[in-house]
Amino acid sequence: AVKRTPFIAGNWKMNLDHLQAIAFVQKLAWALADAKHDFADAEVAVFPPFTDLRSVQTLVAADSLPIGYGAQDVSAHDSGAYTGEISGAFLAQLDCTYVIIGHSERRTLHGETDAEVNAKVAAAHRHGLVPVVCVGETADDLETHGPSAVPVAQLRAALEGVDGSKGLVVAYEPVWAIGSGQAATPAQAEQVAAALRALLVELLGEEVAQSTRVLYGGSVKAANIASFLREPNVDGALVGGASLDIDEFSSIVRFKK
Ligand code: PEP
Repeated sequence: AVKRTPFIAGNWKMNLDHLQAIAFVQKLAWALADAKHDFADAEVAVFPPFTDLRSVQTLVAADSLPIGYGAQDVSAHDSGAYTGEISGAFLAQLDCTYVIIGHSERRTLHGETDAEVNAKVAAAHRHGLVPVVCVGETADDLETHGPSAVPVAQLRAALEGVDGSKGLVVAYEPVWAIGSGQAATPAQAEQVAAALRALLVELLGEEVAQSTRVLYGGSVKAANIASFLREPNVDGALVGGASLDIDEFSSIVRFKK
């Protein structure tokens, strides 16, 4: 089997200004340096607001910090009359590796459709960014359609026409678990992650599917991270609330299996 490096991603949402971002990334770097010997090898990335990205870039580059970063959204367009939008070209210039696409807050609060998510994935790839594609069902969906149908349909739509060789991370985030304090069980996360991986095999082939990280997100904390990472198809976590607390997030990135 392919070994996938666990990925711990912190989605700051609309929190931490650029000065707070600098302080946070410095502390995270200390925590990671401290952890070198005892802890499992994970890749760590933060997803600050757009206005923080230049500060984070400067800090990470100056000391070659082992911290990745990306944006929380990207425009489907490359340039032009799109007031308020941010091009993937700009994110690439700031050395972003990743970009979150289709977070449930964008889908519900900003009416983002599957077609827009698909166009944004293509835009990310045009600029050499790795999309972190978020999918997940609401509590109603779960009751009506069962656990995997909605996330699988969302991922199918998101990946239409996508070239799997350009890199991809998938985040399964049940909407009912986001910010609710009520995480899915590891078994629930594994069931959907396995279904998403099966879809990746169908759409992108075995090799890409086996090397693609599928994350769980929704009320992940230091106390439950290890239980998710023990599941064979869960390769890390997308962390919201707990990614803003340096002590909590440091404990999450230093999870022990
Ligand atoms: C998220 O919004 O991506 C998320 C997982 O939030 P939380 O960890 O706060 O549930």
